[in-house]
Amino acid sequence: MMTYEEMLELARSKLNPQRLGEYDSTGLVAAVLEGANGKYYAGVNIDLACGIGFCAERSAAAAMVTDGERTVRRFVCVDAEGKPLPPCGVCREFLLQLSPENARAEFLLCEKPKKICRLEELMPHPWYRMGQDK
Ligand SMILES: [Zn+2]
Repeated sequence: MMTYEEMLELARSKLNPQRLGEYDSTGLVAAVLEGANGKYYAGVNIDLACGIGFCAERSAAAAMVTDGERTVRRFVCVDAEGKPLPPCGVCREFLLQLSPENARAEFLLCEKPKKICRLEELMPHPWYRMGQDK
C-alpha cells in the first residue's frame, strides 16, 4: 500500500501543464486515487473553452471505472505547484453518486501539517439522502 507521500509524488509526476490556447489547458492539476481493489489510478484536468472539460479527480475516477471499480479508498490531488488541493463541489457530488461507499473515502487536504478528511465530512448532507435516516 502506498503512503500518502508516495501518492503525492505519483500525482506530481503526472503534472504536465500544457496551454492549448487562450482558454484551453491540461495537466495543471493531477490526481491519484487508491481504489477499493487496491489499485492506483491517475488523472489530469482538461479545461477547454465554453466550460467544456473536467477535473483531475473525475479523470482519475473515470480510469478506475474503466477498470471495473467504483469505490475509492484514498485520494490525493495536487495543483500546478504540487501542493495538495481539496476536491471541488462537482467532484464531491460525482464521487458520492458513483458509489455511496465513497462517503468513507479519505482525502489528503494538506501535507504539512497532514490533514485528512473523509468525503462525508466534506459533503455531510447528500441531496439523495435528504429526509432519510442515515
Ligand atoms: Zn473537481
